[in-house]
Amino acid sequence: MAGNASEIKGIGGATPGWYAAGLDHVWLPYAQMKTVTPPLAVTATHGSRIVLADGREFVDGIASWWTACHGYNHPHIQAAVERQLAAMPHVMFGGLVHEPALTLARRLAAMLAGDNCSTDLDRVFFSDSGSVAVEVALKMAVQYWGNQGIRGRTRFVAFNGGYHGDTTGAMAVSDPQGSFHTAFRGLLPEQIVVDLPVDAASTSALEAVLADRAEQIAAIIVEPLVQGAGGMHFHDAHVLKTLRALAERYELLLVFDEIFTGFGRTGAMFAFQEAGVVPDILTLSKALTGGTLPLAATVARRKVFDAFWSDDPAKALMHGPTFMANPLACAAANASLDLFEGEPRLVQVAKIADALRQGLEPCRTLPGVKDVRVKGAIGVVELERIENINALRQRFIAEGVFIRPFGSIVYLAPAFTIAEDELAKLLAVVRTVLGNGAAQ
Ligand SMILES: *Cc1c(COP(=O)(O)O)cnc(C)c1O
Repeated sequence: MAGNASEIKGIGGATPGWYAAGLDHVWLPYAQMKTVTPPLAVTATHGSRIVLADGREFVDGIASWWTACHGYNHPHIQAAVERQLAAMPHVMFGGLVHEPALTLARRLAAMLAGDNCSTDLDRVFFSDSGSVAVEVALKMAVQYWGNQGIRGRTRFVAFNGGYHGDTTGAMAVSDPQGSFHTAFRGLLPEQIVVDLPVDAASTSALEAVLADRAEQIAAIIVEPLVQGAGGMHFHDAHVLKTLRALAERYELLLVFDEIFTGFGRTGAMFAFQEAGVVPDILTLSKALTGGTLPLAATVARRKVFDAFWSDDPAKALMHGPTFMANPLACAAANASLDLFEGEPRLVQVAKIADALRQGLEPCRTLPGVKDVRVKGAIGVVELERIENINALRQRFIAEGVFIRPFGSIVYLAPAFTIAEDELAKLLAVVRTVLGNGAAQ
C-alpha cells in the first residue's frame, strides 16, 4: 500500500506521520489490499460526525456499522466508562462476578421479558463480539439436545440473504454468496441454507426439508424482520410466525439473531417484540454498548437453560471467552440502557423513519434504482447493480458524508440522535449522487 499511502495526501492535504508509518502494517477488513481505496485517517468523533486528521468533518450515515445509536462520545456513557476504568477495567469472569455484569444481565432479562413479562428469555451469556455470540448460540442449541440424550442434532437451518458473522460456525449459517463459502469449502460445517418462508412455495420447500431431516437439526436461525449485512431485506412477522410453528411441529429450537435489529433499530426495542414471536435463544451485540466497546450477549429461555441444569459437570455450557463480561463494556451497556430509558429513542426512530421515507422516495424513479424501502432507522435504495463500488463510495466522501454502499445497495442507518439538518444532508446527497447516475 505504499503507493496508496502517499496518494491520500493528494486528497486532503496533511497526512499524519502515524498514517504512512502504520498503513503498510495493518490488514484491513474485507479489503483487497493491493487495490483498496486508502482509508480515511480519523482523529475524533462527536454526535453524528467523524473528524479527519486533515480537518474535514463528515456526517455519518451508518453509525459505525450501526453501533453508535446515541451518537458518538455520549457524555453519559463516557462518564460511566471513566468511573469503571478507575475502579476496575477488567477482571476474569471465571469464579468472579461484578456489579456491571450482574446489573446488565438483570436489566436485559427485564427488557426482554417485556411489560407483560410474557417471555422467559432471562439467562444471559456474555461474550465480546456478535460472531462469538452466534457461535455460543449454536453450541447452546447442539448441547441442548445432547444433554437430553438426543444424538445427531448438529445441523442448522438458515436462510439465503442472512448474515450471522465471520467466524467459522457463523459463516456456515450465513448466505453462501455473501460469506464467500467457496473460499472456505472443506472448513465450514455443512448447514441447510434455504429461502425464507415468505410464500406458499418457499414454505412448503422448507417444510419438505424439515420433514426429511428434522432429526439432524438442532435449530433454525434467522435475523428477525430485517436481514442486515446480507442486503437489508425486510420480511413480515408472518414469516417468523411460520418459523415458530414449524419449530414447534418438528421440535426444533428457534434462534433469533438480533445483533442488528436489537435496541430500537427497526422501530421497536426488539424485532421479536414487534413480531410477537419469542425465540428460544436470542443474540445481541452491535448497539449493546451504544457503540463504545465490544460486547455481546446470548440470551436463553428457561427451557434451554434447564437442559444444562444438572449434577453432571459434562452438561455445563462449554464456553468462556477471556474477556467475557468485561466490566468497562458492561458499564457502557448499562449507561446505554439508561439512555434508552430516559430519552425518547423510539420516538426518534419513528421520526427518522418518516424522514427516510420522504427523503428517499424520489430515488424510486431514478434510472438504475430497483427498490426503495424503509424500516425504522434503516433506509435502503437498492440498485440494479453497482458497477464501481469504490467510485460510488468516493462520491459520497466528496460530498462530505460517510455512507458505505455494499453489494447493490446504498443505505442509511444513522444514530437515533442525528440532527434534522444532518439527516437532511445525508438524504440530499443520496438523491444527488444517485441522480447523477453514479450508480451505473
Ligand atoms: C454484525 C452482525 C454479526 C456479527 O457481529 P460481529 O461483532 O461483527 O462479530 C452477526 N449477526 C448479525 C445480524 C450482524 O449484523
